[in-house]
Amino acid sequence: MAKEEMRCSFCGRPKSDTSILIAGVDAHICDRCVEQAYGIVIEEEEGVEFENLSKELLLRKPMEIRSFLDDYVIGQEQTKKVMSVAVYNHYKRLLQEKEQDDDAVEIEKSNILMVGQTGTGKTLVAKTIARMLDVPLAIVDATVLTEAGYVGEDVEGILTKLLQAADYDVEKAERGIIFIDEIDKVARKGDNPSITRDVSGEGVQQALLKLLEGSIVNVPPKGGRKHPDQKFIEVDTKNILFVAGGAFDGIERIISKRLNFQAVGYGSSKENEQLDRENLMQYIIPKDVKDFGLIPEIIGRLPVLTHMDPLDRKTLRAILTEPKNALIKQYEKLFEMDGIAFTITDEALDCIVDKALEYKLGARGLRSLCEAILTDAMYELPSQTEVKEFCVDLEYTQNALNKNLMQRLQAAS
Ligand code: ADP
Repeated sequence: MAKEEMRCSFCGRPKSDTSILIAGVDAHICDRCVEQAYGIVIEEEEGVEFENLSKELLLRKPMEIRSFLDDYVIGQEQTKKVMSVAVYNHYKRLLQEKEQDDDAVEIEKSNILMVGQTGTGKTLVAKTIARMLDVPLAIVDATVLTEAGYVGEDVEGILTKLLQAADYDVEKAERGIIFIDEIDKVARKGDNPSITRDVSGEGVQQALLKLLEGSIVNVPPKGGRKHPDQKFIEVDTKNILFVAGGAFDGIERIISKRLNFQAVGYGSSKENEQLDRENLMQYIIPKDVKDFGLIPEIIGRLPVLTHMDPLDRKTLRAILTEPKNALIKQYEKLFEMDGIAFTITDEALDCIVDKALEYKLGARGLRSLCEAILTDAMYELPSQTEVKEFCVDLEYTQNALNKNLMQRLQAAS
Protein backbone atom coordinates (compact mmCIF):
# COMPACT_ATOMS: atom_id res chain seq x y z
CA MET A 1 0.00 0.00 0.00
CA ALA A 2 1.26 3.49 -0.91
CA LYS A 3 2.46 5.61 1.98
CA GLU A 4 -0.14 8.21 2.97
CA GLU A 5 0.66 11.68 1.64
CA MET A 6 1.83 14.23 4.20
CA ARG A 7 -0.66 16.96 5.04
CA CYS A 8 -0.63 20.41 6.57
CA SER A 9 -1.58 19.95 10.22
CA PHE A 10 -3.43 23.30 10.18
CA CYS A 11 -5.61 23.20 7.06
CA GLY A 12 -5.31 19.56 6.16
CA ARG A 13 -4.18 20.25 2.58
CA PRO A 14 -2.12 17.39 1.07
CA LYS A 15 1.50 18.19 0.23
CA SER A 16 0.77 18.06 -3.52
CA ASP A 17 -1.66 20.98 -3.12
CA THR A 18 0.91 23.23 -1.48
CA SER A 19 3.95 25.06 -2.77
CA ILE A 20 5.92 24.04 0.26
CA LEU A 21 5.16 22.00 3.36
CA ILE A 22 7.42 22.73 6.32
CA ALA A 23 8.01 19.96 8.83
CA GLY A 24 7.99 20.55 12.58
CA VAL A 25 8.42 18.10 15.46
CA ASP A 26 5.05 16.38 15.21
CA ALA A 27 3.36 18.50 12.63
CA HIS A 28 3.58 20.21 9.24
CA ILE A 29 2.56 23.62 8.02
CA CYS A 30 1.92 24.76 4.44
CA ASP A 31 2.89 28.05 2.78
CA ARG A 32 -0.66 29.43 2.89
CA CYS A 33 -1.03 28.78 6.63
CA VAL A 34 2.36 30.38 7.25
CA GLU A 35 1.14 33.51 5.44
CA GLN A 36 -2.10 33.58 7.37
CA ALA A 37 -0.34 33.11 10.68
CA TYR A 38 2.08 35.88 9.80
CA GLY A 39 -0.86 38.20 9.09
CA ILE A 40 -2.32 37.48 12.52
CA VAL A 41 1.00 38.17 14.23
CA ILE A 42 1.43 41.48 12.38
CA GLU A 43 -2.09 42.63 13.24
CA GLU A 44 -1.49 41.93 16.91
CA GLU A 45 1.85 43.70 16.81
CA GLU A 46 0.41 46.75 15.14
CA GLY A 47 -2.00 47.35 18.00
CA VAL A 48 0.83 47.17 20.50
CA GLU A 49 3.06 49.18 18.19
CA PHE A 50 0.56 52.01 18.07
CA GLU A 51 0.45 52.30 21.83
CA ASN A 52 4.19 52.13 22.10
CA LEU A 53 4.57 54.73 19.39
CA SER A 54 2.24 57.21 21.05
CA LYS A 55 3.93 56.70 24.39
CA GLU A 56 7.34 57.01 22.80
CA LEU A 57 6.30 60.23 21.12
CA LEU A 58 5.17 61.66 24.38
CA LEU A 59 8.60 61.03 25.72
CA ARG A 60 9.82 63.66 23.31
CA LYS A 61 9.05 66.84 25.12
CA PRO A 62 8.51 70.05 23.17
CA MET A 63 12.05 71.19 23.94
CA GLU A 64 13.45 68.01 22.45
CA ILE A 65 11.32 68.37 19.34
CA ARG A 66 12.60 71.91 19.09
CA SER A 67 16.19 70.82 19.41
CA PHE A 68 15.69 68.28 16.61
CA LEU A 69 14.29 71.08 14.43
CA ASP A 70 17.32 73.22 15.31
CA ASP A 71 19.57 70.67 13.61
CA TYR A 72 17.90 71.28 10.28
CA VAL A 73 16.11 74.64 10.34
CA ILE A 74 17.97 77.90 10.89
CA GLY A 75 16.19 80.78 12.61
CA GLN A 76 12.36 80.75 12.55
CA GLU A 77 12.34 80.73 16.34
CA GLN A 78 8.62 81.32 16.80
CA THR A 79 7.59 78.66 14.30
CA LYS A 80 9.89 76.08 15.82
CA LYS A 81 8.51 76.69 19.28
CA VAL A 82 4.88 76.74 18.18
CA MET A 83 5.32 73.61 16.06
CA SER A 84 6.99 71.71 18.89
CA VAL A 85 4.08 72.40 21.20
CA ALA A 86 1.46 71.68 18.52
CA VAL A 87 3.04 68.36 17.60
CA TYR A 88 3.44 67.35 21.24
CA ASN A 89 -0.20 68.14 21.95
CA HIS A 90 -1.30 66.36 18.80
CA TYR A 91 0.21 63.10 20.00
CA LYS A 92 -1.13 63.63 23.48
CA ARG A 93 -4.53 63.83 21.88
CA LEU A 94 -3.98 60.56 20.00
CA LEU A 95 -3.05 58.86 23.22
CA GLN A 96 -6.09 60.22 24.99
CA GLU A 97 -8.28 58.99 22.19
CA LYS A 98 -6.85 55.51 22.55
CA GLU A 99 -7.62 55.52 26.25
CA GLN A 100 -11.26 56.18 25.39
CA ASP A 101 -12.08 57.82 28.65
CA ASP A 102 -15.69 58.95 28.36
CA ASP A 103 -15.42 61.74 30.91
CA ALA A 104 -12.20 63.08 29.52
CA VAL A 105 -11.92 66.63 28.28
CA GLU A 106 -11.78 66.36 24.54
CA ILE A 107 -8.54 67.80 23.21
CA GLU A 108 -9.03 69.47 19.86
CA LYS A 109 -6.68 69.04 16.97
CA SER A 110 -3.74 71.41 16.59
CA ASN A 111 -3.60 71.81 12.83
CA ILE A 112 -1.17 74.52 11.86
CA LEU A 113 -1.12 77.45 9.44
CA MET A 114 2.32 78.78 8.50
CA VAL A 115 2.48 82.13 6.80
CA GLY A 116 5.68 83.35 5.19
CA GLN A 117 7.46 84.12 1.96
CA THR A 118 8.37 81.28 -0.32
CA GLY A 119 11.71 79.64 0.37
CA THR A 120 11.78 80.48 4.09
CA GLY A 121 11.54 76.87 5.22
CA LYS A 122 7.84 76.02 5.57
CA THR A 123 8.14 72.71 3.74
CA LEU A 124 11.42 72.02 5.47
CA VAL A 125 9.80 72.36 8.91
CA ALA A 126 6.99 69.94 7.96
CA LYS A 127 9.48 67.47 6.47
CA THR A 128 11.73 67.62 9.50
CA ILE A 129 8.86 66.99 11.90
CA ALA A 130 7.71 63.99 9.82
CA ARG A 131 11.25 62.65 9.76
CA MET A 132 11.59 63.00 13.51
CA LEU A 133 8.30 61.25 14.20
CA ASP A 134 8.87 58.68 11.49
CA VAL A 135 5.33 59.16 10.21
CA PRO A 136 4.28 59.37 6.56
CA LEU A 137 4.15 62.82 5.02
CA ALA A 138 2.28 63.97 1.93
CA ILE A 139 3.12 67.34 0.40
CA VAL A 140 0.41 68.72 -1.82
CA ASP A 141 -0.05 71.92 -3.70
CA ALA A 142 -3.39 73.60 -3.15
CA THR A 143 -3.24 75.24 -6.56
CA VAL A 144 -3.86 71.97 -8.38
CA LEU A 145 -6.88 71.10 -6.28
CA THR A 146 -10.35 71.61 -7.58
CA GLU A 147 -13.83 70.93 -6.44
CA ALA A 148 -15.04 67.45 -7.35
CA GLY A 149 -16.23 67.39 -10.91
CA TYR A 150 -13.81 70.00 -12.25
CA VAL A 151 -10.61 69.46 -14.20
CA GLY A 152 -7.73 69.02 -11.79
CA GLU A 153 -7.09 66.91 -8.73
CA ASP A 154 -9.88 66.06 -6.33
CA VAL A 155 -9.24 66.84 -2.72
CA GLU A 156 -9.37 63.09 -1.97
CA GLY A 157 -6.19 62.80 -4.04
CA ILE A 158 -4.34 64.30 -1.07
CA LEU A 159 -5.14 61.18 0.90
CA THR A 160 -4.03 58.98 -1.98
CA LYS A 161 -0.62 60.63 -1.68
CA LEU A 162 -0.53 60.01 2.05
CA LEU A 163 -1.51 56.37 1.54
CA GLN A 164 1.30 56.01 -0.97
CA ALA A 165 3.74 57.57 1.48
CA ALA A 166 2.57 55.03 4.06
CA ASP A 167 2.97 52.09 1.65
CA TYR A 168 -0.80 51.66 1.78
CA ASP A 169 -0.74 50.95 5.50
CA VAL A 170 -4.02 52.68 6.38
CA GLU A 171 -3.37 52.86 10.11
CA LYS A 172 -0.01 54.45 9.54
CA ALA A 173 -1.50 56.94 7.09
CA GLU A 174 -4.15 57.87 9.63
CA ARG A 175 -1.41 59.10 11.96
CA GLY A 176 0.51 60.92 9.26
CA ILE A 177 1.08 64.55 8.36
CA ILE A 178 -0.30 66.38 5.33
CA PHE A 179 1.40 69.57 4.24
CA ILE A 180 -0.81 71.71 2.03
CA ASP A 181 1.35 74.26 0.27
CA GLU A 182 0.12 77.50 -1.29
CA ILE A 183 -3.10 77.53 0.67
CA ASP A 184 -3.25 81.28 0.02
CA LYS A 185 -3.84 80.61 -3.67
CA VAL A 186 -7.30 79.24 -2.95
CA ALA A 187 -8.31 82.38 -1.09
CA ARG A 188 -11.45 83.95 -2.47
CA LYS A 189 -11.11 87.33 -4.11
CA GLY A 190 -12.74 89.00 -1.14
CA ASP A 191 -11.00 92.08 0.15
CA ASN A 192 -7.75 91.34 -1.57
CA PRO A 193 -7.47 92.90 -5.01
CA SER A 194 -4.21 91.10 -5.84
CA ILE A 195 -5.93 87.73 -6.00
CA THR A 196 -7.22 87.04 -9.45
CA ARG A 197 -8.44 83.51 -9.01
CA ASP A 198 -12.15 83.01 -9.53
CA VAL A 199 -14.59 82.02 -6.83
CA SER A 200 -13.92 78.32 -7.29
CA GLY A 201 -11.13 78.86 -4.75
CA GLU A 202 -13.82 78.95 -2.15
CA GLY A 203 -15.17 75.62 -3.41
CA VAL A 204 -11.76 74.07 -2.83
CA GLN A 205 -11.67 75.54 0.66
CA GLN A 206 -15.04 73.93 1.36
CA ALA A 207 -13.78 70.60 0.08
CA LEU A 208 -10.64 70.88 2.21
CA LEU A 209 -12.77 71.63 5.21
CA LYS A 210 -14.20 68.13 5.04
CA LEU A 211 -10.73 66.65 5.45
CA LEU A 212 -9.67 69.07 8.15
CA GLU A 213 -12.79 68.46 10.19
CA GLY A 214 -12.03 64.79 10.45
CA SER A 215 -14.17 62.46 8.45
CA ILE A 216 -14.07 59.07 6.86
CA VAL A 217 -13.17 59.56 3.23
CA ASN A 218 -13.33 57.05 0.39
CA VAL A 219 -9.93 57.29 -1.19
CA PRO A 220 -9.10 55.99 -4.66
CA PRO A 221 -5.81 54.12 -4.03
CA LYS A 222 -4.31 55.17 -7.33
CA GLY A 223 -5.84 58.63 -7.35
CA GLY A 224 -7.46 60.44 -10.23
CA ARG A 225 -10.38 59.33 -12.35
CA LYS A 226 -8.35 57.29 -14.76
CA HIS A 227 -9.03 54.08 -12.90
CA PRO A 228 -12.81 54.04 -12.57
CA ASP A 229 -13.05 50.47 -11.29
CA GLN A 230 -10.52 50.69 -8.50
CA LYS A 231 -11.79 49.81 -5.05
CA PHE A 232 -11.89 52.68 -2.57
CA ILE A 233 -10.00 52.59 0.69
CA GLU A 234 -11.60 54.19 3.73
CA VAL A 235 -9.35 56.65 5.49
CA ASP A 236 -10.27 58.44 8.70
CA THR A 237 -8.72 61.92 8.75
CA LYS A 238 -9.51 62.52 12.41
CA ASN A 239 -5.95 62.00 13.62
CA ILE A 240 -4.03 63.28 10.65
CA LEU A 241 -2.07 66.42 11.42
CA PHE A 242 -2.58 69.08 8.79
CA VAL A 243 -0.03 71.79 8.21
CA ALA A 244 -0.95 74.47 5.70
CA GLY A 245 1.52 76.97 4.33
CA GLY A 246 1.37 79.98 2.10
CA ALA A 247 3.18 83.17 1.16
CA PHE A 248 0.04 85.31 1.43
CA ASP A 249 1.55 87.98 -0.79
CA GLY A 250 0.25 91.37 0.21
CA ILE A 251 -0.97 90.37 3.66
CA GLU A 252 1.48 92.86 5.17
CA ARG A 253 -0.76 95.61 3.85
CA ILE A 254 -3.71 94.14 5.73
CA ILE A 255 -1.62 93.81 8.90
CA SER A 256 -0.27 97.32 8.57
CA LYS A 257 -3.73 98.75 8.03
CA ARG A 258 -5.03 97.01 11.14
CA LEU A 259 -2.06 98.11 13.24
CA ASN A 260 -2.36 101.74 12.14
CA PHE A 261 -6.02 101.67 12.80
CA GLN A 262 -5.46 100.30 16.29
CA ALA A 263 -2.81 102.86 17.00
CA VAL A 264 -5.19 105.65 16.06
CA GLY A 265 -7.86 104.08 18.23
CA TYR A 266 -5.67 104.06 21.30
CA GLY A 267 -3.89 107.25 20.37
CA SER A 268 -0.66 105.50 21.20
CA SER A 269 1.76 106.35 18.48
CA LYS A 270 4.53 105.23 20.83
CA GLU A 271 3.39 101.64 20.55
CA ASN A 272 3.34 102.04 16.83
CA GLU A 273 6.87 103.38 16.74
CA GLN A 274 8.13 100.20 18.31
CA LEU A 275 6.73 98.08 15.50
CA ASP A 276 9.27 96.30 13.38
CA ARG A 277 8.16 97.60 10.00
CA GLU A 278 10.59 95.34 8.16
CA ASN A 279 8.81 92.24 9.36
CA LEU A 280 5.14 92.95 9.83
CA MET A 281 4.32 89.27 9.38
CA GLN A 282 5.22 88.67 13.02
CA TYR A 283 2.09 90.57 14.09
CA ILE A 284 -0.28 88.38 12.07
CA ILE A 285 -3.58 87.35 13.67
CA PRO A 286 -6.34 85.08 12.29
CA LYS A 287 -8.43 88.09 11.28
CA ASP A 288 -5.74 89.14 8.77
CA VAL A 289 -5.92 85.71 7.17
CA LYS A 290 -9.68 86.02 6.99
CA ASP A 291 -9.42 89.45 5.41
CA PHE A 292 -7.03 87.95 2.90
CA GLY A 293 -9.74 85.55 1.80
CA LEU A 294 -9.60 82.27 3.69
CA ILE A 295 -13.05 81.32 4.94
CA PRO A 296 -13.52 81.46 8.73
CA GLU A 297 -14.29 77.74 8.92
CA ILE A 298 -10.90 76.88 7.46
CA ILE A 299 -9.14 79.29 9.78
CA GLY A 300 -11.01 77.73 12.69
CA ARG A 301 -9.69 74.32 11.67
CA LEU A 302 -6.13 75.60 11.52
CA PRO A 303 -6.03 77.04 15.02
CA VAL A 304 -2.26 77.27 15.38
CA LEU A 305 -1.11 80.28 13.39
CA THR A 306 2.57 80.99 12.97
CA HIS A 307 4.76 83.13 10.73
CA MET A 308 8.09 82.64 9.00
CA ASP A 309 10.66 85.41 9.19
CA PRO A 310 12.23 86.63 5.97
CA LEU A 311 15.74 85.22 5.52
CA ASP A 312 18.36 87.87 6.23
CA ARG A 313 22.05 87.79 5.39
CA LYS A 314 23.05 86.09 8.64
CA THR A 315 20.43 83.36 8.24
CA LEU A 316 21.31 82.65 4.62
CA ARG A 317 24.97 82.42 5.55
CA ALA A 318 24.16 79.96 8.33
CA ILE A 319 21.94 77.89 6.01
CA LEU A 320 24.96 77.28 3.78
CA THR A 321 27.06 75.64 6.47
CA GLU A 322 25.18 74.91 9.69
CA PRO A 323 22.25 72.51 9.23
CA LYS A 324 23.03 68.80 9.59
CA ASN A 325 22.72 68.38 5.84
CA ALA A 326 23.89 71.87 4.89
CA LEU A 327 24.69 72.46 1.23
CA ILE A 328 28.42 72.91 1.81
CA LYS A 329 28.53 69.70 3.86
CA GLN A 330 26.89 67.91 0.95
CA TYR A 331 29.51 69.16 -1.51
CA GLU A 332 32.28 68.18 0.91
CA LYS A 333 30.85 64.68 0.92
CA LEU A 334 30.55 64.55 -2.86
CA PHE A 335 34.18 65.58 -3.35
CA GLU A 336 35.34 63.31 -0.56
CA MET A 337 33.93 60.36 -2.47
CA ASP A 338 36.46 61.20 -5.18
CA GLY A 339 39.23 61.48 -2.60
CA ILE A 340 39.27 65.30 -2.81
CA ALA A 341 39.30 67.58 0.24
CA PHE A 342 36.93 70.44 -0.62
CA THR A 343 37.18 73.77 1.19
CA ILE A 344 35.59 77.13 0.60
CA THR A 345 36.68 80.45 2.09
CA ASP A 346 34.50 82.73 4.18
CA GLU A 347 34.75 85.46 1.53
CA ALA A 348 33.47 83.06 -1.11
CA LEU A 349 30.54 82.08 1.12
CA ASP A 350 29.74 85.77 1.75
CA CYS A 351 29.79 86.37 -1.99
CA ILE A 352 27.25 83.56 -2.56
CA VAL A 353 24.97 85.07 0.08
CA ASP A 354 25.33 88.55 -1.48
CA LYS A 355 24.31 87.20 -4.87
CA ALA A 356 21.33 85.34 -3.41
CA LEU A 357 20.20 88.57 -1.76
CA GLU A 358 20.95 90.74 -4.78
CA TYR A 359 18.88 88.58 -7.08
CA LYS A 360 16.25 87.88 -4.41
CA LEU A 361 16.81 84.17 -4.86
CA GLY A 362 16.21 83.23 -1.22
CA ALA A 363 17.46 79.99 0.26
CA ARG A 364 16.54 78.02 -2.84
CA GLY A 365 18.89 80.24 -4.83
CA LEU A 366 21.84 79.19 -2.68
CA ARG A 367 21.68 75.76 -4.27
CA SER A 368 21.60 77.07 -7.84
CA LEU A 369 24.46 79.44 -7.09
CA CYS A 370 26.58 76.64 -5.63
CA GLU A 371 25.83 74.47 -8.65
CA ALA A 372 26.87 77.29 -10.99
CA ILE A 373 30.15 77.69 -9.10
CA LEU A 374 31.03 74.03 -8.67
CA THR A 375 29.72 72.25 -11.76
CA ASP A 376 32.94 72.65 -13.77
CA ALA A 377 35.01 71.27 -10.92
CA MET A 378 32.58 68.42 -10.32
CA TYR A 379 32.87 67.58 -14.02
CA GLU A 380 36.64 67.78 -14.35
CA LEU A 381 38.21 66.82 -11.04
CA PRO A 382 37.03 63.20 -10.77
CA SER A 383 39.14 62.40 -13.86
CA GLN A 384 42.21 64.19 -12.52
CA THR A 385 43.27 61.59 -10.00
CA GLU A 386 46.36 63.57 -8.95
CA VAL A 387 44.11 66.33 -7.50
CA LYS A 388 43.62 65.77 -3.78
CA GLU A 389 42.48 69.22 -2.71
CA PHE A 390 40.09 71.80 -4.08
CA CYS A 391 39.78 75.21 -2.46
CA VAL A 392 37.21 77.72 -3.65
CA ASP A 393 38.10 81.32 -2.88
CA LEU A 394 36.47 84.64 -3.71
CA GLU A 395 38.16 84.99 -7.08
CA TYR A 396 37.17 81.50 -8.19
CA THR A 397 33.59 82.17 -7.07
CA GLN A 398 33.32 85.47 -8.94
CA ASN A 399 34.84 84.05 -12.12
CA ALA A 400 32.62 81.00 -12.05
CA LEU A 401 29.51 83.07 -11.50
CA ASN A 402 30.38 85.48 -14.28
CA LYS A 403 31.11 82.63 -16.61
CA ASN A 404 28.00 80.68 -15.81
CA LEU A 405 25.65 83.47 -16.69
CA MET A 406 23.80 85.00 -13.83
CA GLN A 407 20.93 85.62 -16.21
CA ARG A 408 20.24 81.93 -16.30
CA LEU A 409 19.83 81.90 -12.55
CA GLN A 410 17.61 84.90 -12.67
CA ALA A 411 15.45 83.32 -15.30
CA ALA A 412 15.15 80.16 -13.23
CA SER A 413 14.19 81.92 -10.02
P1 ADP B 1 8.96 77.12 1.50
O1 ADP B 1 8.20 75.85 1.75
O2 ADP B 1 8.79 78.12 2.59
O3 ADP B 1 8.73 77.71 0.15
P2 ADP B 1 11.25 75.39 1.60
O4 ADP B 1 11.08 74.75 2.92
O5 ADP B 1 10.86 74.59 0.40
O6 ADP B 1 10.50 76.79 1.56
O7 ADP B 1 12.76 75.88 1.45
C1 ADP B 1 13.53 75.67 0.31
C2 ADP B 1 14.93 75.22 0.67
O8 ADP B 1 15.63 76.31 1.27
C3 ADP B 1 14.94 74.12 1.72
O9 ADP B 1 15.01 72.86 1.14
C4 ADP B 1 16.20 74.41 2.50
O10 ADP B 1 17.31 73.82 1.87
C5 ADP B 1 16.37 75.89 2.41
N1 ADP B 1 15.86 76.63 3.58
C6 ADP B 1 14.86 77.54 3.57
N2 ADP B 1 14.68 78.07 4.78
C7 ADP B 1 15.56 77.47 5.60
C8 ADP B 1 15.86 77.59 6.99
N3 ADP B 1 15.19 78.43 7.78
N4 ADP B 1 16.85 76.80 7.49
C9 ADP B 1 17.53 75.94 6.70
N5 ADP B 1 17.29 75.79 5.38
C10 ADP B 1 16.34 76.54 4.82
